[in-house]
Amino acid sequence: ASKAAEKESDTSNLRSPICCILGHVDTGKTKLLDKIRQTNVQGGEAGGITQQIGATYFPVEAIKKKTEVMQVYEKRIFEVPGLLIIDTPGHESFTNLRSRGSSLCNIAILVIDIMHGLEQQTIESLRLLRDRKAPFIVALNKIDRLYDWQTIPNNSFRDSFSKQTRSVQQEFEDRLTKIKVALAEQGLNSELYFQNRNMAKYVSIVPTSAVTGEGVPDLLWLLLELTQKRMSKQLMYLSEISATILEVKVVEGFGTTIDVILSNGILREGDRIVLCGLNGPIATNIRALLTPPPSRELRIKSEYIHHKEVKAALGVKIAANDLEKAVAGSRLLVVGPDDDEEELKDTVMDDLTGLLDSVDSSGHGVTVQASTLGSLEALLDFLKDMKIPVMSIGLGPVYKRDVMKATTMLEKDKEYAVMLCFDVKIDKEAEQYADEQGIKIFNADVIYHLFDAFSAYQAKLLEQRRKDFLEYAIFPCVLKTLQIINKRQPMIIGVDVIEGTVRIGTPICAVRLDPETKQRNIMVLGKVTSLEINHKAVDSVKKGQTSAGVAMRLDNPSAAQPVWGRHVDESDTLYSLISRKSIDTLKDPAFRDTVTREDWLLLRKLKPVFDIK
Ligand code: GDP
Repeated sequence: ASKAAEKESDTSNLRSPICCILGHVDTGKTKLLDKIRQTNVQGGEAGGITQQIGATYFPVEAIKKKTEVMQVYEKRIFEVPGLLIIDTPGHESFTNLRSRGSSLCNIAILVIDIMHGLEQQTIESLRLLRDRKAPFIVALNKIDRLYDWQTIPNNSFRDSFSKQTRSVQQEFEDRLTKIKVALAEQGLNSELYFQNRNMAKYVSIVPTSAVTGEGVPDLLWLLLELTQKRMSKQLMYLSEISATILEVKVVEGFGTTIDVILSNGILREGDRIVLCGLNGPIATNIRALLTPPPSRELRIKSEYIHHKEVKAALGVKIAANDLEKAVAGSRLLVVGPDDDEEELKDTVMDDLTGLLDSVDSSGHGVTVQASTLGSLEALLDFLKDMKIPVMSIGLGPVYKRDVMKATTMLEKDKEYAVMLCFDVKIDKEAEQYADEQGIKIFNADVIYHLFDAFSAYQAKLLEQRRKDFLEYAIFPCVLKTLQIINKRQPMIIGVDVIEGTVRIGTPICAVRLDPETKQRNIMVLGKVTSLEINHKAVDSVKKGQTSAGVAMRLDNPSAAQPVWGRHVDESDTLYSLISRKSIDTLKDPAFRDTVTREDWLLLRKLKPVFDIK
């Protein structure tokens, strides 16, 4: 037999797919993981489910047992040796399980609470999954909370569902439909998994209960079905090493260790490894490969099993020297006999330098700092979607020198003189320095919280600008005098609004050309302090708003008020006092949105009146 054929028949050479769980807080991710891990076979652990570092391994035997109730619906041939499910639910592990911008997660479960529908982190998860092109299924969890749901523990969804009353079924259908519509609004077609005829185009929904275990067999069954379909044969065999650091942890007796998901290949004790560090690449030798002892009950904290070698896919703890500055989310490369270590160091740092592409080349934007490569990448993707420019990026704790980078924005653009920090420690001195300099630091461990805080801050700044520049935000208007009511202070004139809108606060003027010198003479009558239509006070009057006249009161604190009848009279057209500065103020983001197209057209028309270029 050929080598290839030999390889094909040798199932020990197959690797297992990796699965992550994502979703909004409290949708039941942890509970669902617990339920999947739990055995429904009486008397102990089912077929060698093993607890690893940061992950649980399910051999195919265990999955077969757990999906027995599915046999009545579909026969299944299991091709993969098992399934590795990442234990830490949420974005953290998903974002760090990455390599060159794509995901090492072969399949993800997005958990949605059937009672709550899509929530903010659901939408954030959807964006992550889409950005990383990770295949996923939706677990529509907490079906047991449908009113009057009758439970059959660990049953298949279809069987349990068929035994519910019509009203329970109806409530389920209603909620399902709503959620499908909400998903469609996010650009995602979805279908109940057993009605899904086009898995490539429609995402499959599996109704589950993490409490009763109903739908859990369906979920496992579908996970295998999909990964086997989606993962090419090639991918299912052990090949080149692919590994990612999920966490960096200090462990008593081992110093700083890294928790690694080995998604492909074999790692051996003594291997020379290269990884990305906070202050540059790290090269070291694997001192120990560790996994927890098999039985959860007997586990003592500091006790680990040592391995000479480990095979993908699995979660393993690596002890080695010089890991203090290792960065979660970094790839881990093994230096082979023909490899150039320096080259590998460059390769591994590419993960960080590659992210510099997201940085604005003109040095304009916010400063971003994150705890891991994965979260930094996710945050940058997010900011790109939100069209928020980034000036500088960083990893790890925030120090004074990081804040100093942000201060360059203080003069250029105050609204970007901020640091958006994702789950990092902020040094005391740095915090104090930021305070003194007026740099805002936002720190959160949920992207949208960070974004919300930043948006609120931007809105506040804008509001402040609006207040500060209000007197320069002069909207254009053209008025015709109908009647002078009071010539002295305060001047009161009955006017008709010919163009634009007159508002309280608008300075009003007349413009005359000196017939001899051809000099433009702008006479400011005063600022509008009240407007009345038929004795009713209003804040503003738009062209065409009333056929009655408007009584406009003007106050002018300056003594140089033009004299009615001498400097100005009924024949003068009155204007709001516009200038280069007032036009530029209206263009500012603080006001731009309140200026209409008609306003711009009128401004253009009025420029020659005031000789504005
Ligand atoms: P996570 O934040 O997504 O990990 O959510 P948890 O697993 O911690 O669950 C949040 C809460 O919802 C807990 O009180 C769980 O007991 C409860 N819960 C989770 N799944 C279900 C379910 O299927 N049915 C019901 N009734 N409660 C659930």
